[in-house]
Amino acid sequence: MTSVRVRVGPSPTGDPHVGTAYIAIFNMVFARQHGGQMVMRIEDTDRARSRPEWEEMILSSLRWLGVQWQEGPDVGGDFGPYRQSERGAIYRDHAEMLLSSGAAYKCFCTAERLQELRAEQREQKLKFGYDGRCRSLDADEVAKRAGAGEDFVVRLAIDDDDRTVVKDRLRGDIVFENAEIDDQVLLKSDGMPTYHLANVVDDHLMQITHVIRAEEWITSTPKHVLLYQAFDWQPPQWIHMPLLRNPDKSKISKRKNPISINYYRDAGFLPQAMLNYLGMMSWTFPGEREEFSLDEMVEAFDIDKVALGGPVFDVEKLKWLNGNYIRKLAPEDLAKRLQEQVFGPEVIGRLVPLLQERIERLEDFATQSSYFFCGEVTYDAAASAALVPKKRTPKEITTALKRVVEFIERQPTLVAASLEGDLRAIGDELGLKPRDFFMPIRVAVTGRKATPPLFDTMAAIGKERCRLRILGAIAHIRTLPKG
Ligand code: GLU
Repeated sequence: MTSVRVRVGPSPTGDPHVGTAYIAIFNMVFARQHGGQMVMRIEDTDRARSRPEWEEMILSSLRWLGVQWQEGPDVGGDFGPYRQSERGAIYRDHAEMLLSSGAAYKCFCTAERLQELRAEQREQKLKFGYDGRCRSLDADEVAKRAGAGEDFVVRLAIDDDDRTVVKDRLRGDIVFENAEIDDQVLLKSDGMPTYHLANVVDDHLMQITHVIRAEEWITSTPKHVLLYQAFDWQPPQWIHMPLLRNPDKSKISKRKNPISINYYRDAGFLPQAMLNYLGMMSWTFPGEREEFSLDEMVEAFDIDKVALGGPVFDVEKLKWLNGNYIRKLAPEDLAKRLQEQVFGPEVIGRLVPLLQERIERLEDFATQSSYFFCGEVTYDAAASAALVPKKRTPKEITTALKRVVEFIERQPTLVAASLEGDLRAIGDELGLKPRDFFMPIRVAVTGRKATPPLFDTMAAIGKERCRLRILGAIAHIRTLPKG
């Protein structure tokens, strides 16, 4: 029997997501239960959005949580390279194999033609999809046009009259009409693979036996099944885990709860508590026990008992659980964590240059620095009044603060030196005077009107807290009396 091999394939295009951690934990537990291996594969084919900083953050936050993998870009292994951006030739060779067997074809349709097609389909209220025009090109013409340097993509030729069955371990057979599945692009005109091709080729070459991933990929899976058929390969077993949900049952989103693992690490959630909480999602520990270790989960988990009803990721519940873990720490251990994580020399060292000018006694440091240590901030009457400068409307400031949140989300970390220029540019674009733009930001992130220099302050407070506090300020503005 081949041994169990699972994988996670995060794309390094943003903050380390709790959803990625959830899937990684279940993959790890499944692998450990079967004495198998877990592969960490970096799916960075989106060259415009992928960044090494995000990759580093994803790996380090998963490691912090206690997720371990036996193969990956950082630990090596026999099936590397483990970054898709380093596997370009493999994908091109595989696309070539499909072209020669006739399972795929070159498509020369330009972006303009596809746009027109889309417009036509919209007008006729048809489903969007490629109409297969280039499928019938004869071989000589294809050779001539490609030879002349015309751009093309490689598409999978899908037989519209057929249907495709995804056999999901948790959901049974899911049947898709092929007519609903587009002739998928496998290789883009720049020679880079799409997610579908890279994912399937890698799962096969890396000998993955079970694909445990989130349910949002289900609609991609029939394309993957068709690819396995086109290559004449044995597909892995598909296991689509239910998506995490907000307490209101909507799909988990960063607008409602922090979704970055970095937030939870910075806020002082304990990794064991976080792992325990994510490990509770989608199934019930025997006896409805809520506190368990990774080893206990490996012992008790049964993938066939996963409930599909959308597990709720509730920060309040997680806080409660984390509190239980904190209470169980030996006081010396808690003291050590506080000294290292909250009041460590690195944190104090960062604040001293900002606060030295502002204190008269050492004890003033505590009052002056409180907003660097706490989570949320509150807005008293003076702060509330300063959040919306005179002659500016709550709506304008809300729009401006939302832009700042979006900007912050795109940064791996906040760097004082570049914040000024970047924020100034946003203020200019919005037509806000620096004073009318920077004061609301200052108040939003600190709860105060007077603080050390704004950009250093924001950098010291950190990305996740700044983001959350600005969202808090936006909510607060909504509660202010009009006018
Ligand atoms: N790159 C995909 C992601 O970001 C991987 C999906 C899969 O596991 O197939 O989640």
